[in-house]
Amino acid sequence: MSENKPDFSAMKEELFYTPKHASKVLSADEVAAADAYCEGYKNFLNDAKTEREAVCVSVAEAEKNGFVPYEFGKKYVAGDKVYYNNRGKSIIFAIIGKRSLADGVRIAAAHIDSPRLDLKPNPMYEDNEIALLKTHYYGGIKKYQWTAIPLALHGVVVKKDGTVVTVCIGEDENDPKFVISDLLPHLAQEQSKRTLSDGIRGEELNVIIGSRPFADCDEAEAVKLNILKLLNEKYGIIEADFLSAELEVVPAFKACDIGLDRALIGSYGHDDRVCAYPALTAILETENPEYTVLSVLTDKEETGSDGNTGLNSSYMADFITDLAETNGVPGRICMKNSECLSADVNAAFDPTFADVLERRNAAYLNKGIVITKYTGSRGKGGTSDASAEFMGRVRSMLDKNGVIWQIGELGKVDLGGGGTVAKYVASHNIDVIDAGVPVISMHAPFEVVSKIDVYMAHRAFKVFFAD
Ligand code: MN
Ligand code: MN
Repeated sequence: MSENKPDFSAMKEELFYTPKHASKVLSADEVAAADAYCEGYKNFLNDAKTEREAVCVSVAEAEKNGFVPYEFGKKYVAGDKVYYNNRGKSIIFAIIGKRSLADGVRIAAAHIDSPRLDLKPNPMYEDNEIALLKTHYYGGIKKYQWTAIPLALHGVVVKKDGTVVTVCIGEDENDPKFVISDLLPHLAQEQSKRTLSDGIRGEELNVIIGSRPFADCDEAEAVKLNILKLLNEKYGIIEADFLSAELEVVPAFKACDIGLDRALIGSYGHDDRVCAYPALTAILETENPEYTVLSVLTDKEETGSDGNTGLNSSYMADFITDLAETNGVPGRICMKNSECLSADVNAAFDPTFADVLERRNAAYLNKGIVITKYTGSRGKGGTSDASAEFMGRVRSMLDKNGVIWQIGELGKVDLGGGGTVAKYVASHNIDVIDAGVPVISMHAPFEVVSKIDVYMAHRAFKVFFAD
């Protein structure tokens, strides 16, 4: 009897879909490669906290690898490496492929803006000899998370004569930092009755920037005057220059390893640098691809992709159209044969908040890059929903190349949801699917990802470009 009994364990292995912890599948060398790769990623996180900085850092790396600014209307040949810098806030890197543009392009599209606090146009005021800055939050944040943590100020100020002044205060070890206050628990009885989302209100996100008045100054607002004088000495700016500025308040802390095994990275801005960096390194490591390949690092995803640096603008389609048409191929023919990995994060299963995710369709830390067939909310509203055919193609490509991956849906049905740039890419008649890294504490000032997952994102984009 027993010798005829089927091998159920082997049968399960064959028939069940069972994503495994990547370190059970990878060799020690591959895990070490993931750890080594993430040292570069941590530097990127620290050097590129804003979309503008991400563009600068990426361009510098790309130029070292032979990328040159793209000229609209110029014909390029196979192997040429170009970049299209869209207003310093979004960027497309491309390598011309051996095949005709009529066969389409391969796109990895990630975003480089992250939730943060933007300064209001007229931000500075003094109240009881404390100088503060008014902010308007950018993207989906839990406001209470932004109080009582060290903050830095990044961005640009455009002076009346057109001069652009780059500002970065709070990142150097010796720099002062800034902070938003919270109420002491002793006096928070009324505040504690507020709901969590109302715990800190938008107009309470005021950044402390100074508290010492000019000595021997009898004027009102002598603290504000002192701070403006300091800014004037350092940057040559006056208060009216805030009117034409983009100044972003971001956490001042640096990326670091999390856990005794150092398997995770904690940082501000993983969403979506954790896909932008792998998309960038994938194209930097690509030479003479078969298809023309694009790494798109876009802006404005966190506020809905609107604006001319977001993917709801035509800048990517215009670039592809120009590439195609200078080679005698109509843009629409190129786009209909193109494929895109919409490279964005998904929620990782968090044991502490397990009930918001449906376990069989949730993404997990350390199980590789997460492929999300559809996003959206309440009946898939607002999703582009990749076809089974395209999902099938991506699935077999990843498996064939030994890339560890998993599927993931953003939370339980009707509990929430969200969108990415996928639908804006799909609107150009391009096949697109979401692929990214699972994140714990997404949109918090300090988010957490797994090193192996980051590396698998890099490998996925690389094989996509080579496939
Ligand atoms: Mn994102
Ligand atoms: Mn986001």
